[in-house]
Amino acid sequence: MRRFDVAIVGAGPAGLFAAYELVAHGVKNLILVDAGRDVGRRYCPLLSVHASRELGISCAGCKPCNVLQGVGGAGLFSSGAINLHPQIGGDLVSILKSYSKAEEMIRYLDNVLAKFGVPEESLRLPNQELVKEWERRAAKAGAKLIAPAQRRLGTEESLEFTRRLVDYLTAEGVKIATETLVMSVESAGEGFGLATDRGTIEARRVILAPGRSGAAWFSEISKKLGVRTVPGPLDVGVRLEIPDYVMDPLVSVIDDPKVIMYTKTYDDKVRTFCVNPRGFVIAERYNGYVAVNGVSYRGLKSRNTNLALLVTVQLTDPLEDTVEYGRQIAMTATKLGGGKPLIQRLGDLLSGRRSTWSRIERSSVEPTLRDVTPGDVGMALPYRVVTDVVEAVERLDDMLPGLASPQNLVYAPEIKFYSVRAIVDEWMQTTVEGLFVAGDGAGLSRGINGAAITGILAARGVLRSL
Ligand SMILES: Cc1cc2nc3c(=O)[nH]c(=O)nc-3n(C[C@H](O)[C@H](O)[C@H](O)COP(=O)(O)OP(=O)(O)OC[C@H]3O[C@@H](n4cnc5c(N)ncnc54)[C@H](O)[C@@H]3O)c2cc1C
Repeated sequence: MRRFDVAIVGAGPAGLFAAYELVAHGVKNLILVDAGRDVGRRYCPLLSVHASRELGISCAGCKPCNVLQGVGGAGLFSSGAINLHPQIGGDLVSILKSYSKAEEMIRYLDNVLAKFGVPEESLRLPNQELVKEWERRAAKAGAKLIAPAQRRLGTEESLEFTRRLVDYLTAEGVKIATETLVMSVESAGEGFGLATDRGTIEARRVILAPGRSGAAWFSEISKKLGVRTVPGPLDVGVRLEIPDYVMDPLVSVIDDPKVIMYTKTYDDKVRTFCVNPRGFVIAERYNGYVAVNGVSYRGLKSRNTNLALLVTVQLTDPLEDTVEYGRQIAMTATKLGGGKPLIQRLGDLLSGRRSTWSRIERSSVEPTLRDVTPGDVGMALPYRVVTDVVEAVERLDDMLPGLASPQNLVYAPEIKFYSVRAIVDEWMQTTVEGLFVAGDGAGLSRGINGAAITGILAARGVLRSL
């Protein structure tokens, strides 16, 4: 059996960038393992559906899920919006205990993107004078606006970039084991043994980067290995779909604006997330429930803009398990939707009645996701979450008139798990020596940038320890 210096579990941005950093520093005896397929084999029916503008189905329920799993990770079919801001995509500043170090890592990431051919034109640098004006309007709505510089790759370039990175790793001798599920990880002598459905892998160091689809697995493995973790928060809410012209004045200045506010009723944090100008709402099928998300394409446009409104929920004693709580919410919503996401006109939500297809058809906003069930989001999400979302929509309408139009559409559930968060040092080493973690699955990031940077940090940690 070949013994590797490093085994990386998960070939999403965290795993891929970790592999890059190791190879760039001469560590080539490494294996990258992913349960999903290789980048070229991750055919997703969603893409053909979008391309043919039929938008009739949401997910074929592939196993493993080709949208979330496989080389390139969950972000492969995304709009590839890479935020170049240390306060977005994770808690880099608190992980590195320094704003300037976090900024330095962002610059490093951007250089790697450039090295692998990400075009200069993909950079979106908001005009600071116009940003000031929007910050003022946000303040009037009692909110804070973050306007990050961003690389906007688009789905096509996101795929191409991943392909170039993978080609480089392969050419450097990295073994990439796709369609290989890691079932368990155990300490073995001075390293680790990884039991997979294709046999055992041995490695001196391990980086676990399993992403959101592997978050529950990570939590389980952590318990068995004795990795100390703390409960992570849960972000739950809805995806709003509105006419593009409502959001255009803001997104023409800031590509992916982040607006954060605390609600008057509960003092809960609500934030906008993943704005997709002229994009599409999509469904993501998980084990036992379905959730919504949004994408946008460079070439294919809708007449709508979609964005998530997420409420941060942190549970305390006796139930700290936000993953379980979130799953229950998502399962309830899925049950109410008969296995599909729910859709509701905002006006129906505000007046406390369910939507029906005939009401949806009367809306001036045409849904980009049709494999949904018209219903009552107010029945599916906790009262507190709905109250927070409604307040946020109404306050944001001051900033963006038309956002609270009763014609707008609301999809649910939109849910982001951060699962348990591993306790790590600044090199992403867990409380188990030689075991490193990175990315969304270990609760360390919430986006491509944060995942990639924690991957790079984990690789540097491995380099120090080898
Ligand atoms: C539709 C969509 C759109 C998005 N858009 C954006 C965006 O525009 N910008 C942005 O910053 N973020 C976006 N995100 C989020 C972004 O994709 C994630 O934050 C990022 O991919 C996290 O990277 P990761 O490497 O931590 O995990 P992932 O990308 O989830 O990768 C983890 C990998 O680990 C593998 N894995 C898990 N468990 C195992 C196991 N036991 N054995 C073997 N392999 C395993 C999985 O198959 C997966 O390929 C989007 C996500 C989705 C789903």
